Amino acid sequence: MTYQRVGVVTGANKGIGLAIVRQLALQYPKSPYNNGPLLIYLTARDKGRGEQAVKDIEGDAQLKKAKALSSDGGLSDVRYHQLDISETKSIQDFAAYLKKEHPDGIDFAINNAGIALQGFDVEVVKNTLGCNYYGTLEATQEFLPLIKDGGRLVNVTSTAGKLSKYSSELQERFRSAKEVNDVTKLMEDFTAAVEAGNEKEQGWTSAAYAASKAGATIMSRAIAEKHRASGSKTLINACCPGYVNTDMTRGAGTKIPDQGAQTPVMLAISDIQGQNGLFWKSEKPEEF
Ligand code: NDP
Repeated sequence: MTYQRVGVVTGANKGIGLAIVRQLALQYPKSPYNNGPLLIYLTARDKGRGEQAVKDIEGDAQLKKAKALSSDGGLSDVRYHQLDISETKSIQDFAAYLKKEHPDGIDFAINNAGIALQGFDVEVVKNTLGCNYYGTLEATQEFLPLIKDGGRLVNVTSTAGKLSKYSSELQERFRSAKEVNDVTKLMEDFTAAVEAGNEKEQGWTSAAYAASKAGATIMSRAIAEKHRASGSKTLINACCPGYVNTDMTRGAGTKIPDQGAQTPVMLAISDIQGQNGLFWKSEKPEEF
């Protein structure tokens, strides 16, 4: 089978990630952005949950209808692959698999996997940053060399990470960060402040999720600008899906997952006029 595009979605067994995969699968045959089927890797850290999600997608009524209506009876393919972004080996194994299966490269990757833990202590901070910041960073660094020039990388972050809640000194450090190391240093300083019990005095808030998403957003921008400066045409952006009703929000979100999927899907496959290194919400760039 020849695919129009090959892409990856992380944390895709439920919630917004699953809706992103479904939306991508629905792009063929009806989308102006695709004149051929896609191959989408639905990745999940748990094999059983990932494989069940692929079965659910295959049984999806809207997708079945689209297939029946398509002139060639074809439809995009959705394939499970294991990926735990908190495990370096898992990220590297998946990247090696992609390189072998797709020697000409893949077209896009959407780093959607994330956690929002209850409570606030050193363990919560380390686990949250481990997944949302360091895991997303490692996945970004492993996927980027696999993405064809002109492809897309999308990091799902959050408006919860917006910088205005931090001290003006911290805001300035985030805003002027040019290197990934500058952002990682901020994450290390946050962890050290929590360990010392003085994160508020240091200009942070007592919220691990917010700090992790601030880091992931600014890290995405730093990588995007570096990549562009090296001559790459690949577009790297961060986005917030909005307040979505998923397990993460325990039913409180106001959007359905399909709505939350819109901005990440747009950034992965539609014409975004070459815009790079930005933070997006509701399909538009927004100040972070
Ligand atoms: P869910 O909790 O419903 O889904 C999160 C997904 O990430 C699950 O598939 C989960 O897998 C997976 N995941 C968690 N940790 C890892 C890991 N280490 N490796 C791989 N996958 C992992 O959350 P949402 O769908 O709501 O959130 C998706 C993204 O959107 C997250 O990055 C979140 O921060 C962001 N977001 C969500 C908002 C909302 O209102 N819902 C608002 C703003 C941002 P498993 O089932 O195995 O736990």
